[in-house]
Amino acid sequence: MSRRKLLLTGALIVLVGAFFWFDLGRFLSLDYLKQRQAGFEALYAERPLQVIGAFFAVYVAVAALSLPGAAILTLAGGSIFGLVVGTVIVSFASSIGATLAFLASRYVLGDSVRARFAQRLAEIDKGVAKDGAFYLFTLRLVPLVPFFVINLVMGLTRIKTGVYYFASQLGMLAGTVVYVNAGTQLAQIDSLRGILSPGLVGSFVLLGLFPLIAKKIVDVIQGRKVYAKWAHLKPKTFDRNLVVIGAGAAGLVTSYIAAVVKARVTLIESHKMGGDCLNYGCVPSKALIRTATLVRQMKHSADYGIARVDATFSFADVMDRIARVVREIEPHDSVERYTGLGVDVVQGYAKVVNPWTVQIDLGEGRMQTLTTKSIVIATGAMPFVPPLPGLDEVGHLTSDTLWGLRELPKRLVVLGGGPIGCELAQSFARLGSQVTQVEMLPRVMVREDEEVSALARAALEADGVRVLTGHKALRCVKETGPDGDRKFIVLDHAGTELRVEFDQLLCAVGRVARLKGYGLEELGILDPNKPSRTIETNEYLQTIYPNILAAGDVAGPYQFTHVAAHQAWYAAVNGLFGTFKKFKADYSVIPWATFIDPEVARVGLNEQEAKEKGVAYEVTKYGIDDLDRAIADSAAHGLVKVLTVPGKDTILGVTIVGAHAGDLLAEYVLAMRHGLGLNKILGTIHTYPTMAEANKYAAGEWKRNHQPKRLLEWVGRFHAWRRG
Ligand SMILES: Cc1cc2nc3c(=O)[nH]c(=O)nc-3n(C[C@H](O)[C@H](O)[C@H](O)COP(=O)(O)OP(=O)(O)OC[C@H]3O[C@@H](n4cnc5c(N)ncnc54)[C@H](O)[C@@H]3O)c2cc1C
Repeated sequence: MSRRKLLLTGALIVLVGAFFWFDLGRFLSLDYLKQRQAGFEALYAERPLQVIGAFFAVYVAVAALSLPGAAILTLAGGSIFGLVVGTVIVSFASSIGATLAFLASRYVLGDSVRARFAQRLAEIDKGVAKDGAFYLFTLRLVPLVPFFVINLVMGLTRIKTGVYYFASQLGMLAGTVVYVNAGTQLAQIDSLRGILSPGLVGSFVLLGLFPLIAKKIVDVIQGRKVYAKWAHLKPKTFDRNLVVIGAGAAGLVTSYIAAVVKARVTLIESHKMGGDCLNYGCVPSKALIRTATLVRQMKHSADYGIARVDATFSFADVMDRIARVVREIEPHDSVERYTGLGVDVVQGYAKVVNPWTVQIDLGEGRMQTLTTKSIVIATGAMPFVPPLPGLDEVGHLTSDTLWGLRELPKRLVVLGGGPIGCELAQSFARLGSQVTQVEMLPRVMVREDEEVSALARAALEADGVRVLTGHKALRCVKETGPDGDRKFIVLDHAGTELRVEFDQLLCAVGRVARLKGYGLEELGILDPNKPSRTIETNEYLQTIYPNILAAGDVAGPYQFTHVAAHQAWYAAVNGLFGTFKKFKADYSVIPWATFIDPEVARVGLNEQEAKEKGVAYEVTKYGIDDLDRAIADSAAHGLVKVLTVPGKDTILGVTIVGAHAGDLLAEYVLAMRHGLGLNKILGTIHTYPTMAEANKYAAGEWKRNHQPKRLLEWVGRFHAWRRG
């Protein structure tokens, strides 16, 4: 705590302490007020300005210090100054005092409370940013929550001071008038309780609910407004309860859930069932990684006690195996399977023509039109190709076209240092390509902590990848010479140009949502004046039309198959039952992995995010180089890094680098999801010898760092005493 903060806290404690020590509360009682009423009135008649000033100052101090007595002072305001002047004075004094208490709470407690409960407060902040003034107004209007509590709690949120002041003054006005008015009849009042009869409190409650009800009405009116343009096209009856566009992870799961709950659902896919994950993403890339790992192990067979292994292979065979793997998994996502599950699957290109109608281009000039109560857009994302001069002339690969290669590129440039770029760069290097990986930023996998990025880079370089971070691609150049065409990419590194020759260039610089060509612009779901990276949705995954929802890569904020499937549940349920009950998509515990070797897996916060968000944390690390199973497998490298709440075993986030890190992470995902701390992981038996023991050892490391040292010293003395 800073000196100033310490001084202020001390001053506040002294002032509040003095109030109670000197029993100043006796001057803020109904009896005292009644006794001195005549005297106060006479004084006011004699010196009105001084009395108003003194009264104002006392009121502000009482409210600012959250002392009991504001109600009595409000009555006094009525009895001394009358209804109008009393109301004005009390209204300003109470609002200023409340705002000072709010500021004191923010200044003194804000940082420490924020550091401890940053994530929870972030959620509250979001609500406050959206509806803060409304809620505050309601709380002020309904005199059920003590006002000093409101001041102290609101100080911990990010509500603006000006908003706080005005919402408070407005919200407290009705109550102020009632009390000041009662003060004008002071002689008839026997107790404070009598002022607010149950009937009056009830009226306040109704008044308090009014803004909320009004807001709901405004929401409905706004909802009607977006539909107004289309209202004449709204069908009387609907062909479907739900139409889902796109049969990737998001669309498949959405339609499956809809079918399970007996909705009539149509799933439309314009290309391949299974979407990107099955056909161009997770599945082929992991199949490639497996073969590349095998080649690497064969090349390094000496590590396993085998002098040499001949790793002769044809790249075309490798690609054939990948295609076989995809084919083997295809039935899981096939038209037949989903039809069997009760989903009506249509192969065609869908376009949303109005909020309740989807038109499907079935090819060969055939069209089908379906009306539907709700629509889920699950059209995914596609590789982003940067507008590099010369790129068209040299040609390029993306994750969409890569899988058609039949020859191993001799020299491959991978543009992009993110997870996809790293996975593919390492695999091609292991298979024998000379790989140059280019990343504009200072390190690869920038979302991870620096030490994790460094481990990833070391792993890539160990496999022969030339990693050029801090290099910006400027242009591509094709030169025709006597030996044929030569292709180069020109890079800028700190003002110096560098040329890298290549046979193939792979763009892996990110993926952009598929947004164009199927009606989003016409419906106004995409704002023409605001370039969008994804479809904008609310927390229920609804677009500006509550019956049109989006899930998966097209909606973001994550681009993973398991997140697409997770969102699918919300999209299906909110799409089908949202009129009655909606669920906010929960992103509190999202895991992911990058399948380089060693794998990098994460759930929750890492250090750099904790710092960005101002979350206080402790770090515990366990080095996997020490793990028996890892040593036996010649995979003794990597770490488990756990972030916990200071002084507690509550897990904020985990990063694992090591063999099978993606699998190891599951235990921590479960723990975070269900609020289990490190003590619970430590108290769980882990099979010996497994990689999973790394999780337990990390928990053990945390425990060692949190031993009750004092107690153990005493226990040591006890044993010494027992030994005699
Ligand atoms: C190389 C690579 C590796 C990856 N590895 C992993 C990984 O290891 N783990 C992981 O979790 N994620 C991984 N991903 C990401 C993962 O593939 C995506 O997050 C996932 O596919 C998203 O699913 P989706 O349903 O949102 O979209 P998609 O799978 O893209 O499906 C969208 C579907 O919509 C169809 N469509 C689009 N417009 C229309 C229309 N108008 N009418 C009809 N159909 C339409 C498309 O044809 C497509 O089939 C990887 C991606 C790539 C490229």
